[in-house]
Amino acid sequence: MTKKKVIKKKATKKKVAKKASHKISKGMVFEYAPAPESTKVEILPKYGNFIGGKFVAPKSGKYMESRNPATGELITKIALSNASDIDSAVKAARKAYTETWSKLSGMDRGKYLFRIARIIQERSRELAILETMDGGKPIKESRDVDLPLVAQHFFYNAGWADKLDYVMPGKKVKSIGVCGQIIPWNFPLMMAAWKIAPALACGNTIVLKPAEQTSLTALRLAEICKEAGLPDGVVNIVTGAGETGAALVEHKGVNKIAFTGSTDIGKHIARTAGKTDKKLTMELGGKSANIIFADAAIDQAVDGVVNGIYFNQGHVCCAGSRLLVEESVKDIVLKKLQKRMKQIRVGNPLDKNTDLGAINSKEQFDKIKSLVKQGKTEGGEFWQAPCSLPTKGYFFAPCYFVDQSGSASISREEVFGPVLSITTFRTPEEAVIKANDTAYGLAAGVWSEKGSKIHKVAAGLRAGVIWANTYNKFDATSPFGGFKESGYGREGGRHGLLPYLEVR
Ligand code: ADP
Repeated sequence: MTKKKVIKKKATKKKVAKKASHKISKGMVFEYAPAPESTKVEILPKYGNFIGGKFVAPKSGKYMESRNPATGELITKIALSNASDIDSAVKAARKAYTETWSKLSGMDRGKYLFRIARIIQERSRELAILETMDGGKPIKESRDVDLPLVAQHFFYNAGWADKLDYVMPGKKVKSIGVCGQIIPWNFPLMMAAWKIAPALACGNTIVLKPAEQTSLTALRLAEICKEAGLPDGVVNIVTGAGETGAALVEHKGVNKIAFTGSTDIGKHIARTAGKTDKKLTMELGGKSANIIFADAAIDQAVDGVVNGIYFNQGHVCCAGSRLLVEESVKDIVLKKLQKRMKQIRVGNPLDKNTDLGAINSKEQFDKIKSLVKQGKTEGGEFWQAPCSLPTKGYFFAPCYFVDQSGSASISREEVFGPVLSITTFRTPEEAVIKANDTAYGLAAGVWSEKGSKIHKVAAGLRAGVIWANTYNKFDATSPFGGFKESGYGREGGRHGLLPYLEVR
């Protein structure tokens, strides 16, 4: 290299260094993302329903309180809607279906979905904060798991809108009309996206009822639909409790009900809707098993188990709430599990270091406490991580029961909290029998270094999703749904479009 060139290169290096240095303040080596608290989320004192493209007051004039489960503070008030509000929303959805949405080309519908997806990305920080305030889940989950998936579901389904002829090659498909969608409180915005995005892509219009505990991000999504210029009435959001949901299920103008929630309510809805010609999909409870074989990478498996059950406070339908561990490695697994559980940080969900946030509501908190209390009388050993908990709000330290009988309530009932039930097995056949010994069949995890063993065991498991050497991984391209009392129908992927189409 000539001298001139060397000098020039040095000068360029200096320039780069100078350019970068303006970002580095004194004593600081890296630039951090702003703290979640630094993003201001505007929240109105009360919210009405989103019907026909406008926010309107509930007909009864009644509102419910929406509280932050981590602090107990009142966040805002939301409409407590009745059958008359549902009727207005269904009428608005029907009008939009007949006059606009069903007449648009798939490509045009796709454009709206892409637009919604992009606005979600732009407003993702605000949405993540609101989700965490309303539901108690750690900000690192709402920010890094929920929100990217919410946007992904809109992007993915936007891509399908003009390709519906390929959903079932050789068959003709058509939209079905007005869809009633009822969702739970554990993944509020994600559940809304799972339901709204495929329904819209397929040309249907929607009345969505979010869970009474967590309606705020769905109402924000209504604002986003407006911002995206979505025609009025294509998406309607009506808030309320069980009676509001029941009115939606019973409404004669609704062509399909998509429900995610508890198995009890699911069965009740199936009985009501079964008397009509409504299409029905159900994503219900679970009691999923993580199976660790002796040949597994134990550290990774333990981490996967922790993620499987303690992620989102165990408020996950497919939570790995049962651990089946091969007898020969039980002691080492328990030792590593305890060590790992002691490191879990429980506390303020808005703190980005928090691993385990607040239990969603007092009702759920009481249910977890009562099941654990009962579990302690049913044999086996109980262990709970010795972490300090905030004095305000609903917090529960992660815990497990080991060697309880298969009939103990903790082994059978869906706790929906950070409570793990551990038992052992000796052979792959016994592992499969034990994993399938449940009324549910939503998910399972298999941990082994041997691919052939994973395939053999997976083939015997009666579960809709089976993860191998990982757990709780979701993707818009992959169908999700259950066997047995975990429900029927699939959400996500090509399969997730079928419930929203009439196939001819
Ligand atoms: P979870 O135990 O997860 O709260 P639920 O099944 O109680 O599950 O609630 C899930 C959703 O179903 C919520 O939006 C709730 O308001 C709604 N819901 C509750 N009862 C009924 C009902 N009888 N008919 C329709 N929807 C209902």
